[in-house]
This record gives sequence, C-alpha cells and structure tokens, in this order.
Amino acid sequence: MRQSAAELVQGVPPSPTGPLARPAYRLCTRCIMDTSAEGITFDAGGRCRFCRLHDALEREYPTGPHGEAKLAALLARIRRQGRGRAHDCVLGLSGGRDSTYMLYLAVREWGLRPLAVHFNDGFDNPVAGENIKKAVDRLGVPLRTITSDWRESKDIRIAFLRASTPTLETGTDLGIFAALYGAAAREGLRYVLTAHSFRTEGIAPLTWTYVDGRYLDAVHRRFGAVRRRGWRPLDPGFNLGLRHLAYYILVRGIRALTPMYYVDYVRKRAEPLIAAELGWQNPGAHYFDDLYQSLLWHVHRVKFGIDKRRFNYSALVRSGQLGRAEALERIGRLYSLEDPKFIGLCIKRLGLTESELGQILAAPPRSFRDYPNDLRVLSLLRPLVWLASRLQLVPLATYDKFFHCG
Ligand SMILES: [Zn+2]
Repeated sequence: MRQSAAELVQGVPPSPTGPLARPAYRLCTRCIMDTSAEGITFDAGGRCRFCRLHDALEREYPTGPHGEAKLAALLARIRRQGRGRAHDCVLGLSGGRDSTYMLYLAVREWGLRPLAVHFNDGFDNPVAGENIKKAVDRLGVPLRTITSDWRESKDIRIAFLRASTPTLETGTDLGIFAALYGAAAREGLRYVLTAHSFRTEGIAPLTWTYVDGRYLDAVHRRFGAVRRRGWRPLDPGFNLGLRHLAYYILVRGIRALTPMYYVDYVRKRAEPLIAAELGWQNPGAHYFDDLYQSLLWHVHRVKFGIDKRRFNYSALVRSGQLGRAEALERIGRLYSLEDPKFIGLCIKRLGLTESELGQILAAPPRSFRDYPNDLRVLSLLRPLVWLASRLQLVPLATYDKFFHCG
C-alpha cells in the first residue's frame, strides 16, 4: 500500500487510485499546489486559485509602512481594551515556531500583556511543552493550559478516522478555538490572537481541513461512542457551533485576530531569534508540536494522496522564502513526520489495533460534504461572513477559506 518516495516526485499524481486523483494531473506554474486539492482551478497562465488568493491577501494586508500603520492601530485598540485589567488579550500558544514568535513580538515589540492559552488535546510533543514553559517564563507571561477531556478527544479522533474523510484535525482545530473563546469570555477579554500567516503557512484546501461545529457533531454522533458534555460558555469543550460563535462574537464582543498578516514574517530569521531569546527548540518538523500529526500524515498520504506540506511550501514559494525547485524536491521525499514509531504510538494511544488501522485505510474515502455541516448556511450568510472577516470579528482569512479554497 505504501508508495515509494520515487512515486511521489514532481508530476506524478500522489495517489493514482485515490479519490482525489484527477484524470488530468496539473501542477501550478508558480507554486506547488496541484490537483490533489479538490476544486483547484488554474488561470490561462497555469497559476492556481491559491496563488490568486495569496495576491489578493497581499494587497489587502500589506507589510511595509502601510501594514505597520494598520498593525499599530490594531495594537492600540487592544492595549486600550486592556486598561485596568491584568491582560489585554488571549494569545494561542502551541509551542511551535509561529505562535512562539508571535508571543515574542507581542511582549517585546508590541507592548501587549497577553494571557497565553495552550490547548492540550492529549498528543502534545514534550519538546513543544518545554518551548511553552521557557517562552512564558522568559517573557513573564501567565499561561493557562486547557486540557481536553481525553475520553471525548479520543472518541472524536476515532470518529473522524471512521468517517473516512481527510479532516482528521477537525476536533483539535475546533477545540483550540473553543478554548481560546472560552478563556477570553472567562477573563472578560475582547481579543484573541492566533499566529496564522498566509505568507508562511498558507491556506489549506477546504476539503483537507474543513471545520464547523455542526459537522463535528454529525460525525461524532454517527461514529462516536462517548456522550459528550454540553456547551458551557466559559468551558466549551468541543462545542463551537454557529450559535456558540454568535454568543462569543455578538454577545461577548470577542474578536479573533491574525496580526501576523501585517508582519513581514520570515521563518529563517524568526527561528534563530526565538532560539536565542527564548531557548526555543525545533520540535523536528512543522506541526510536530502535535504528535498526532504522524498518524494524520500517514493516513493523508496513503488513503487520500494529500500532503499538507503542499500548501505550506506553496506559501513560502510565493513569499520568496523557498525556491520552487527546492519545494518540489522536498515534497518528493517522504516527510519525517511520518515516523513509524510515532504512528504506532498514536494508534496505541487511541486503543486501535494495526488491523483496525488497515480497515480505516482501506475504507472508501469520503468528503466532509457527505455529512451534515453548516457550509450551506454559511453560503446563505456569505455577505455576513465577508463582513465579519473584513471587520476582523473572525480571523481574516475565514471568508476566503470557506468560499475560495475548494
Ligand atoms: Zn499556485
């Protein structure tokens, strides 16, 4: 079932028998996105829709003096809101490079007083845990770790494996946002900062990482075994449907911001800086602050012909931080995250057997569209989602993620 690295090189469809294989394989002429991304389209010059989206975001969220002015205005608003309080914002911290660097900027350069919030979903990489501890100690930032209910977390992961869709991170992604909103509500804070950057991380195709609360509920109801506890505003668990979001955004006035959109974030410069200043250590690979990524990467590649490095590297190529030839060369090799030792650890921790994993890998692949979800409702509310993105009530790329990525 395993493909050799040679089969994954440029120009060869990653999974000729997979559901995402296209009769006509195409690779973007500018980045390295290809037809493994469902719904990808190309312009006359062979450039993909993700490249067009990148350029639109670049125009809308510039760096340089214009971006600096916008960021300064945003930071002033955050600091103003924090007057008379212990903190002025909640900052999501994973221990990876991006969020650690943003914490550094927030404290040392932006003059913010964040409450760092870490969501532990049961698969924390100990290296990332050390990074978090060192960073908050050296910067003098209080840390709140929110640990998910392991029975729920495990059950949700297994449910998504059985649902046979590539969206194996829906539980964790939703749990992170729910934890950040819950922490902000608990502290009476209005701003939540997350470290996403379209210039370095990129925006994933919708079918690879689709998240909404109704979708999670539907998949879990169908494939889960554990009864989940209900929503509590200050401790939401894995509940973040549209009505919960409406409560946090409209009633509590909480805004989720992505300030890194205004920062000329160059990874090669940031990494030595946080290593020297905060004792940060590379967990070994991007996203490897979460050990579950090993299993996810394996399932993605073997079953779906998906490699998430494709949108990461593509973003770096577009922002001039990685050569396209090097990106293609790198993606042609198996990713170090797909380490059999960690894959075995994930399976064991979920209580699955090798043969159950085999059944999961062999089951016919499906998409989030095969289950109840809120994309139709969001489509009806499209102008409102656009407005919420532009008013920075929700992360800036939310609208594009739902409507321009597949
Ligand atoms: Zn492209």
